[in-house]
Amino acid sequence: MSKYSAFAIARQAFQNNTGWKRAWRNAQPKSRYDVVIVGGGGHGLATAYYLGKNFGITNVAILEKGWIGGGNTGRNTTIIRSNYLQDPSAALFEKSRDLFETLSQDLNMNVMFSPRGVLMLAQTEAEVRGYKRTVMANKLQGVETDFIGPERVKELCPIMNINGPRYPVLGGQWQARGGTARHDAVAWGFARACSDMGMDVIQNCEVTGVDRANGVVTGVRTTKGDIACDKMGIVVAGHSGALADMAGFRLPIESLALQALVSEPIKPCMDIVVMANTVHGYLSQSDKGEMVIGGGTDGFNNYTQRGSFHHIEETVRALIETFPMLSRLKMLRQWGGIVDMTGDRSPILSKTPLGNCFINCGWGTGGFKATPGSGYAMAELIATGEPAPLTEAFGLERFKEGRFIDESVAAGVAH
Ligand SMILES: Cc1cc2nc3c(=O)[nH]c(=O)nc-3n(C[C@H](O)[C@H](O)[C@H](O)COP(=O)(O)OP(=O)(O)OC[C@H]3O[C@@H](n4cnc5c(N)ncnc54)[C@H](O)[C@@H]3O)c2cc1C
Repeated sequence: MSKYSAFAIARQAFQNNTGWKRAWRNAQPKSRYDVVIVGGGGHGLATAYYLGKNFGITNVAILEKGWIGGGNTGRNTTIIRSNYLQDPSAALFEKSRDLFETLSQDLNMNVMFSPRGVLMLAQTEAEVRGYKRTVMANKLQGVETDFIGPERVKELCPIMNINGPRYPVLGGQWQARGGTARHDAVAWGFARACSDMGMDVIQNCEVTGVDRANGVVTGVRTTKGDIACDKMGIVVAGHSGALADMAGFRLPIESLALQALVSEPIKPCMDIVVMANTVHGYLSQSDKGEMVIGGGTDGFNNYTQRGSFHHIEETVRALIETFPMLSRLKMLRQWGGIVDMTGDRSPILSKTPLGNCFINCGWGTGGFKATPGSGYAMAELIATGEPAPLTEAFGLERFKEGRFIDESVAAGVAH
């Protein structure tokens, strides 16, 4: 892999930036692969990367119907944290947060990981109790979080009004090493590393059918022809139900639009991420100065990757009591992505009824933060064929057995 370095940037400056190589090959499909990954979002690409890095499996194709990172990976608000309540979730999300710490060096691509701190506001007594409970659980899990009082909240985020008449700030759950990263760079970094290992990253290649025989997948049909494979990983987020349907099984997943918006850019005024889950809104400030704002999912199932006016109004209205400065800002643009929601708000990393087919989905509103960890765990599942400590609680069978991993407080609204 050619190194991105300060020296390379200086050299390119003298050549008018004409010498940069393509970051990944524009691959066309071969007739057969050891592993086919459907979905070129962050999770699919990370899965392929760790298959190569940790297991030496490099005869891999990543099939993406659009452009890599064009799904939820490139549409999210980039919040990274691991302050979940249940032990299996905390382990998986903390593994991911930890991988983010060195991801730029590992991929030789600046993913702009910014551990600026994530604050989840407690604005009701119930939230105070809930977050204190999570902080105690996090201490036992080895995840560093604290419950802080309103004065410390104000110190961390001076633009906040902590004395609102309806929802005064009573404190918050603070994860100092949570933060944000550049979502596109995460996808690009993984794609570049995969391509460099000899894998084929194939864009504009939609999977339209799954061929099966004797209880296993034999290959996929795509808009670029049929491709045979020994193993298949389905990593398509909001389209998981459609892919499972092609493969002949059903998933306990709902697909919903989740929207976000950004304001006009303003001077730096907020250097942490804040979530106000009672009122259903959260915000951070991007490097360009825009306030990045999000809320809850649409209240009905749909596949439209679009924003809507009522969402801007609802989300901004919810946040204005705590962030009065928002009332003076113009909103610049909005968008939507299709998220894959499970009933217990925890992901699925699982074997399927087809022996050599594995699925990674159900990350809902909060899977960006899990990108490296999810890929790391999914690669292990595909390579060994069996769940390992990071994945065993997240199997599909939990929905039959009633063994839910209830994260409705940590992940229901928060991202
Ligand atoms: C508005 C919004 C805000 C969010 N904010 C956060 C946040 O702050 N923090 C956080 O952690 N998470 C957040 N999320 C959730 C996060 O974005 C997702 O959980 C995560 O990006 C999922 O990654 P993925 O790779 O699984 O899915 P995706 O990035 O959606 O990738 C799946 C890919 O599969 C492709 N695909 C689908 N069908 C086919 C097919 N038939 N053939 C080939 N390819 C196919 C799609 O085109 C897509 O590129 C947010 C999501 C949205 C929409």
